Amino acid sequence: MVLQELGQKIKDALNKLNKSDNIDQKLLKEMLTTLSIALIKSDVNLHLVKKLTSNIQSKFDEIQEETGNKKLMIQKAVVKELQNMLTSKKKAYVMVRGKPNVVMFVGLQGSGKTTTCTKYANFYQKKGWKVGLVCADTFRAGAFDQLKQNATKCRIPFYGSYTEMDPVKIAEEGVSYFKKLKYEIIIVDTSGRHKQEDALFEEMKQVSAATSPDDIIFVMDSHIGQACHAQAEAFKKTVDIGSVIITKLDGHAKGGGALSAVAATESPIIFIGTGEHFEDFEQFNPESFIKRLLGMGDIKGLFEKVQEVVSKENQEKLAKNISKGIFSLRDMRDQYTSVMKMGPLDKVMNMIPGMSNMMLPEGSEKEASKKMKRFLCIMDSMTDGELDGKQKIDEGRIKRIARGSGALIVEVNLLLDEYKRFQKIVGKMGSLVKGKGGDLTQMQRNPNQFMSKLNGMLPQGMLEQLGGTGNLMNMMKEFQSLEGMSGLMKGGKGRKGKK
Ligand code: GDP
Ligand code: MG
Repeated sequence: MVLQELGQKIKDALNKLNKSDNIDQKLLKEMLTTLSIALIKSDVNLHLVKKLTSNIQSKFDEIQEETGNKKLMIQKAVVKELQNMLTSKKKAYVMVRGKPNVVMFVGLQGSGKTTTCTKYANFYQKKGWKVGLVCADTFRAGAFDQLKQNATKCRIPFYGSYTEMDPVKIAEEGVSYFKKLKYEIIIVDTSGRHKQEDALFEEMKQVSAATSPDDIIFVMDSHIGQACHAQAEAFKKTVDIGSVIITKLDGHAKGGGALSAVAATESPIIFIGTGEHFEDFEQFNPESFIKRLLGMGDIKGLFEKVQEVVSKENQEKLAKNISKGIFSLRDMRDQYTSVMKMGPLDKVMNMIPGMSNMMLPEGSEKEASKKMKRFLCIMDSMTDGELDGKQKIDEGRIKRIARGSGALIVEVNLLLDEYKRFQKIVGKMGSLVKGKGGDLTQMQRNPNQFMSKLNGMLPQGMLEQLGGTGNLMNMMKEFQSLEGMSGLMKGGKGRKGKK
């Protein structure tokens, strides 16, 4: 069963509880059966499924004496148990600035090590770390060329050899080469074999001994399903696995087996690979993952992504402008640029509660990003005065902008219309943020009034799309609890939003 389907099946199971007001043993059993079948069909290890159901049963027994909404308690317990299933007790290795952090990649041939090494290197390099790649795969013909090509595409320095056949020697040399140059993250890509065989495990041990890695990352292909558990166990026995990356969890992948195999490695999943491109790579967090799987949105993940691509200055500037109700063409350009950097729109949409159910129509994601690129191109032809709203854009200017960007006059007008729409919303938002009380804590004081005000300013139907008032309230609360969001939440100077 593919992941999307699994999410739906779990939701179905949880919805079973909505049949009646009171949850009894029979209803619970019905729900647990549906849930178990879904998990097993997704290749989750039988042992884990049994543990999960027995934990929920215990929870049910435990809350019998309690007052309160038992249905909700059980639904929450299920979500919690699913999260726990993907959570490792062990903490992931944390990179240390200013010293070499050696990271070794292990896994079977074809699991995606070389691709993932590059994605991983790219991820850290973008964050400003000094990263180098070492190719210690001498087993597979062309391995060095592959790594070299990947590294070159992402402009990551690399080390390898066409002639040296001893992987241990290359690994050792490569690591000390980058250490001398004061690199902070040194990634060692190793060879794999088609199956778990002694030669591979022996080589892994030797490379590990020669390079003393700070972290050993086990790369596992999610396609192998049920076999994941045994494979993870075998690797765990040979080397000290620190963390796990699951690859090929693309849209329609069946990933239950791989994801739940963390139980066997006792190591945390740190990233997942979701495609062949270098940007198809996501930090993994059990809570975010389960929430998205169940269509509950992932505000925290969205927020982290925004922070990743938007500079702090830009965030602060925008927050300040919004609180004043100001929105310039330049702001719009910054927003578009950020959205483009966040990656495929459909993935971003999935993080917004309720949006995942909306299901972007086929091709509309491509259309939207094409339009954004077009608009960005047009805005590049504008002068500073035009972008900052100091210069009125009259017909003559529209013509010039169209000519300069190779766009049609209608396209420029379309952009200006869209800008006006945004400007209007931001203008209204400003008055809301500035409103009585000076900040959004007003929302907590009088949520109903706040919501009806908000509903009045959003385009029609948008509130329902966002999952209705309840969902939006939760989203706002989540927003408020996030560090760094206070800038936007604060209307008046020096006031802090209530937690
Ligand atoms: P290695 O033998 O472990 O080094 O594996 P490679 O990095 O050479 O990858 C094997 C194949 O899997 C290549 O065709 C990659 O493009 C592909 N691949 C790796 N990661 C992903 C992923 O997350 N999604 C998809 N769809 N393909 C991937
Ligand atoms: Mg490889």
